[in-house]
Amino acid sequence: MFDHLTNPVLAETRAGIRRFIDEELLPLERELGLGSEDQWPRETLRGIWRRSSELGYYAACLPQALGGKGLNIQEQCALKADLAASGSVLAPHVLGDLGGPPRVGNMLKYATPAQLKQYFEPVIRGEKSTCFALTEPHSGSDAQSISTTAVADGDALVINGCKHYISGAPFADFAIVMCITDAGTTPPAITAVLVDLDLPGVTVSSEYVPMSGQHIDADITFENVRVPRANIFGGEGNGFKLGMSRINVNRLLHCPTMLGLATRAYEASVEYAGQRRQFGGPIARFQAIQHMLADMAAALWACESMIAHTAALADSGADLRMKAAACKLFVSERCFEVADKAVQIHGNVGVTRGHPIEQTFRKLRMFRIFTGTSEIQRNTIARAILEPLQARA
Ligand SMILES: Cc1cc2nc3c(=O)[nH]c(=O)nc-3n(C[C@H](O)[C@H](O)[C@H](O)COP(=O)(O)OP(=O)(O)OC[C@H]3O[C@@H](n4cnc5c(N)ncnc54)[C@H](O)[C@@H]3O)c2cc1C
Repeated sequence: MFDHLTNPVLAETRAGIRRFIDEELLPLERELGLGSEDQWPRETLRGIWRRSSELGYYAACLPQALGGKGLNIQEQCALKADLAASGSVLAPHVLGDLGGPPRVGNMLKYATPAQLKQYFEPVIRGEKSTCFALTEPHSGSDAQSISTTAVADGDALVINGCKHYISGAPFADFAIVMCITDAGTTPPAITAVLVDLDLPGVTVSSEYVPMSGQHIDADITFENVRVPRANIFGGEGNGFKLGMSRINVNRLLHCPTMLGLATRAYEASVEYAGQRRQFGGPIARFQAIQHMLADMAAALWACESMIAHTAALADSGADLRMKAAACKLFVSERCFEVADKAVQIHGNVGVTRGHPIEQTFRKLRMFRIFTGTSEIQRNTIARAILEPLQARA
């Protein structure tokens, strides 16, 4: 995947990360006997973030001035696809996808010097982990309908509310929490607030397990939680804008992860079709199987091409709103179809609970929900298509 990229820094980073996975992460997974559906001890994760940081990979996607490798978005896509295709259950922690530098990279410009020192620099070094908390039990796609409040009380803000399905919350040290600070305006003023998750009144809990079986999402409840007003992030009333400013690139950067997962399922299917024998020979000789493999290969190539092109546009500074939505919609739906075909080719093996193909199928299904459902992506695309007509009317 992404073999057309020629930056030697990228090539060196890809090879180094492969070695890190083969020589350290996969042996650690075997030694601890922990799979992707187990609860990973916080200290184990911290050790991986620190080790990845020591090796120079943890912040690889950040600019050089921040200790990163200055890779552009196309190059970041290559790293993310490699990680997802690696088969390591710890792979998302190499770049800190669930609470590290990629979560804060494009928001650092909004941080005050004190916030940089207390919160964001430790995230870059792998010493702290964060999460982004917008969704609530009664507020999903309609993100401006949140009801968590942050009310001023002297030099403090008092936070009450509940955030739902927050990725990385089980091991985060602080959350970037979207709160209503003025309900009197239309729409209500939403402000981002940095909240340490060990404060009195904060509860992180999870009564559910997503279909992927992973323990990486949780709810965060705030009951009269007091934080200094200095923890307002990006200015009062700017929270929604700040959240939306990261959404296009975030949508795009989920795509290589889906591509990596689906590519691994495809490669396993080719292998399986060659070795599984029925009716006196390998199932790969049946045209029905060959056509499924052909459709999978074509879909993966379309996804890779679309991601590469959209990432190049992002690097050129072009307006990504419509293209990132189209890319997330297309890649999430095609990669899920690839996983479905992989299950079919694997027969009963593919529907066996805990088999990597079955796990990949469940993981890929979830991508059609988060960072905007497929319907919300279609709404964004349709708005962009119809805007010129509305402007003329
Ligand atoms: C694994 C996972 C991780 C997540 N991580 C985070 C996180 O880190 N931080 C965070 O804040 N949130 C997170 N979320 C929440 C996620 O962003 C929401 O689930 C998502 O925005 C959809 O909201 P909802 O699930 O409440 O569905 P709803 O908004 O209730 O939608 C239900 C259905 O109605 C459709 N629908 C809704 N509105 C429209 C419309 N206008 N037009 C057409 N159809 C519509 C939807 O497409 C969907 O099919 C995560 C969710 C999951 C599953």
